[in-house]
Amino acid sequence: LMQLFRPLDMLGWVYRTIRQGLIDMADMFRLMDESEEVEDVPGAPALVVREPSIVFDNVRFGYDPGRTILKGLSFEAPAGSHVAIVGPSGAGKSTIARLLFRFYDPQDGRILIDGQDISQVTQKSLREAIGIVPQDSVLFNDTIGYNIAYGRGGATHDEIHEAARRAAILPFIEKLPHGFDTQVGERGLKLSGGEKQRVAIARTLVKNPPIMLFDEATSALDSRTEQDILETLHAVGANRTTLAIAHRLSTVADADTILVLDDGRLVESGNHRALLARDGLYAEMWLRQQAEAEEEAEAAE
Ligand code: ATP
Repeated sequence: LMQLFRPLDMLGWVYRTIRQGLIDMADMFRLMDESEEVEDVPGAPALVVREPSIVFDNVRFGYDPGRTILKGLSFEAPAGSHVAIVGPSGAGKSTIARLLFRFYDPQDGRILIDGQDISQVTQKSLREAIGIVPQDSVLFNDTIGYNIAYGRGGATHDEIHEAARRAAILPFIEKLPHGFDTQVGERGLKLSGGEKQRVAIARTLVKNPPIMLFDEATSALDSRTEQDILETLHAVGANRTTLAIAHRLSTVADADTILVLDDGRLVESGNHRALLARDGLYAEMWLRQQAEAEEEAEAAE
């Protein structure tokens, strides 16, 4: 019987803690998805970010012993650059994001932000420096204003308003009967996939982190919505370092650098044009997606 009660207990705890605003999105992400714990080294200093560069230096990592996922991965995202990560399903793209957020530590190699090894600084300061726009955002059963303010405790109404404006969801909110006080979530107004993503972007903007991590939705938004969201992401990514995990290539053509990952290794990198000219894995994936898009368009006619 205890086995039945424990998960229920856990759920109750998670719910109460969220209501009290004691944990933030990152912890919630970890509670739901991850089990392994990393700990701060004793006396760890806070991460200090002046120039938000990201370096993966020969990173080797596997979730389970005997199965290596990242096999000595090295790359650099200079401060202020926009880097996209592409590659076949299972190549290890999301794993890179999880390591950067330090849900796990690499078995070998180092990850640096602005020259500081992320395993040597406090997790709190690391997670404050990174904003995540996840694939599928969780909305709390609360007001839309609360959901946006969740990026940072103590955000003022003006900050929430400004974040909503920059995430291009303000016109939508202003048309709601109760504006920012409208209840959303399971027991309130249901938002579309695109609207939820915009709330997630606004939430991240309230937090105002120097580094942003976008995990592109795999579930297809219609192409118009996708294009709009992309434009918003580009605008909010200005002056920050952004890392975008892309499941579709249509969304990466503007990145400064595209990292092409295959089976845990970096096989190509460069901008869209350079990679097409190289005629390797990226070019092959691009041609295949173009062909698929054309087939779909024909089928739709
Ligand atoms: P996709 O485009 O399909 O999302 P991806 O490139 O993001 O793929 P990852 O999610 O990084 O791939 O997964 C890489 C490999 O690690 C996969 O083979 C996956 O099965 C494995 N993996 C991912 N998460 C875990 C986990 N929590 N425990 C064990 N193995 C995992």
